Amino acid sequence: MQCSRLIFRLGSKPWTTISNRSIACLAALPETHQMLQKTCRDFADAELIPIAAKVDREQFYPAEQVAMAGDLGLMSIVLDEKYGGTGLDYQAYAIAMEEISRGSPVIGGAMSIHNSLYLGLLEKYGTEEQKQRFIPGYTDGRKIGCFALSEPGNGSDAGAASTTATLKGDRWVLNGTKCWISGGYEAGNAIVFATTDKSLKHKGISTFIVPMDSKGISRGKKEDKMGLRGSSTCQLIFEDCEIPKDNLLGQPGYGFKIAMQGLDTGRIGIAGQALGIAQASLECAVDYANKRVAFGKPISKLQAIQMKIADMSLRVESARLLTWRAAWLKDNKKPFTKEAAQAKLAASETATFCAHQCIQVLGGMGYVSDMPAERYYRDARITEIYEGTSEIQRLVIAGQVIKELSS
Ligand SMILES: Cc1cc2nc3c(=O)[nH]c(=O)nc-3n(C[C@H](O)[C@H](O)[C@H](O)COP(=O)(O)OP(=O)(O)OC[C@H]3O[C@@H](n4cnc5c(N)ncnc54)[C@H](O)[C@@H]3O)c2cc1C
Repeated sequence: MQCSRLIFRLGSKPWTTISNRSIACLAALPETHQMLQKTCRDFADAELIPIAAKVDREQFYPAEQVAMAGDLGLMSIVLDEKYGGTGLDYQAYAIAMEEISRGSPVIGGAMSIHNSLYLGLLEKYGTEEQKQRFIPGYTDGRKIGCFALSEPGNGSDAGAASTTATLKGDRWVLNGTKCWISGGYEAGNAIVFATTDKSLKHKGISTFIVPMDSKGISRGKKEDKMGLRGSSTCQLIFEDCEIPKDNLLGQPGYGFKIAMQGLDTGRIGIAGQALGIAQASLECAVDYANKRVAFGKPISKLQAIQMKIADMSLRVESARLLTWRAAWLKDNKKPFTKEAAQAKLAASETATFCAHQCIQVLGGMGYVSDMPAERYYRDARITEIYEGTSEIQRLVIAGQVIKELSS
């Protein structure tokens, strides 16, 4: 690839000064964002789409392509340049997430977790000393971090963590099991949530940075998943796992808050991932409909097919605007919890809808792995589950709306 991370900085004005421009369409965005979109789309076309079926079939982590994404600055896209990041904004992140996930939601997923839930949390809550210890080497895609919140006994009810961390001298000792950890096999470091005071329930949860080569950590088997099959998902088992005292991230007892704030941002990333799958499904459906002839003409001339294309595009573009709005609010330091949940909910249900419709447009060809539609459908489903299920997004949205309208 000729592109380098420098390409994103070629806009006529610094992106930071124009981040409050209209988000109505890509053309209204800064030149930097338009270039980023094109760079990511070209990269996805050239490097990701050709390997996506193989990654799915053979269930391997595409390390080489993640490193290429790193060379483009995508694996530390919002991290400040002073820590070796690309220093772009969340609008850029949302755009890049969609384009990369259009080619490979596996790489999009790694990009989202690493940017939002590893680097993002370290940058926001880490001390200077922690940033110097845990960020170098993690900006170019060669090493990634993971985020360990869920447990066998609690997913949606994240405040009920039963993994414990006990201070013994100058070491924290962790015990318990985390489950469903994306990138558990590839990650070099993990952000782990554990309770330091059970009596305080969710207010007793704290956050820790745990090097994955620490003594006392083992990984469970790789889950055999419906989709995102190139991403490893596994349990992390902590048995008297010792880490230094100063690996505590943020204040003790602030872990639940840190997790929820991280997930607010993470949802912008997952919305972008879902949009990428939805857009890929739409493109696949239109391409096939133009080529497939039935009753003497391409099926794209049939109104029944056109209705599907219209509904898909309506939902994709609506979800994209919601996603960009959430990113814009974050960039402009305004509350965005509700909007991130709306973006994630809309985009993930759009991804499932579009993949479903894509299969229908393709008919029998939608049902076999010669075409990507069935993979899109399998990949789309997780976006309605992780980083908060659709039910949980609705609870978040309703809580905020009721508060807004009752005050
Ligand atoms: C492939 C994959 C990757 C993942 N990656 C990670 C990761 O990297 N790190 C991590 O920490 N976790 C990860 N997760 C975990 C994921 O976030 C959880 O699976 C998710 O939050 C749901 O939790 P659960 O599976 O325990 O479902 P449950 O919480 O048991 O929910 C089951 C059903 O009940 C519904 N439900 C639960 N509570 C309520 C409620 N109050 N109101 C209405 N409905 C409710 C849910 O919406 C769902 O439909 C991953 C999961 C998968 C499958």
